[in-house]
Amino acid sequence: MGRPNIYFIGAGPGDPELITVKGKSLIEKAHLIIYAGSLVNPEVLKWRKPDSRVLNSAEMALGEIMEAMIQGHKDEKTVARVHTGDPAIYGAIGEQMEILDREGIEYEVIPGVSSFLGAAAALKKELTVPDMSQTVIITRQSGRTKTPESERLNSLAAHRATMALFLSVGMAQRVQEELLTSYPPDTPFAIVYKATWKDQKIFQGKLENLEKMVRENNITKTALIFIGDFLKAGEKRSKLYDKNFSHEFREGA
Ligand code: SAH
Repeated sequence: MGRPNIYFIGAGPGDPELITVKGKSLIEKAHLIIYAGSLVNPEVLKWRKPDSRVLNSAEMALGEIMEAMIQGHKDEKTVARVHTGDPAIYGAIGEQMEILDREGIEYEVIPGVSSFLGAAAALKKELTVPDMSQTVIITRQSGRTKTPESERLNSLAAHRATMALFLSVGMAQRVQEELLTSYPPDTPFAIVYKATWKDQKIFQGKLENLEKMVRENNITKTALIFIGDFLKAGEKRSKLYDKNFSHEFREGA
């Protein structure tokens, strides 16, 4: 046990400046960096020590990743395991933490800016809009990785809340069909491809045209799908700033 020297770090959605101060200083300190090469912007590694060792977990099996981490721990090195966005969202850190727990090895998790928040910032939208939606559903289309039956998209759609879909753009046809069971066909959607990266792209339209938009623009990965009326809330001022609305800090007129 003892002081942790293994850190799971959220790298943020893409823009390297969106890593936390804590995440950056651990990258500066790390002797061994294992990063998810398929999604993490390699620019976050620019702060590393020149003699640090860098491994790309996209090319490694779980066993190899854990072996490298545990060896680093034994050698009393600082190990940075760098995940995209925030590691708690579809980050597969659970299985890694379980193995470390079993081995009695301490670690720490440094949160990051999840891509859905990077994407909301890119859209310049508030996900929770008074009188429209006060709930954000973060989910994915069931595919090769099955979602539990009670969390099927068509049942979640019944809430008509703000929805952010990860890992689903490759199944746009099914997303559209399942969402249309509850959301009206003219509900706005936004697809944010590579949010906060230099080649970020935004596609917007109505739910009934979602699949067409994905197909015509050949969007196959690194994209989030947002659905909900929050996307058309621009013209509607938040009640918080309405002078007739009283809240804790200010009496309404
Ligand atoms: N832990 C990550 C998610 C990892 S799962 C997070 O918190 O963001 C990988 C999925 O996340 C991708 O398939 C895509 O749906 C989404 N994603 C990750 N980075 C993204 C980005 N910069 N822009 C849009 N979607 C992104």
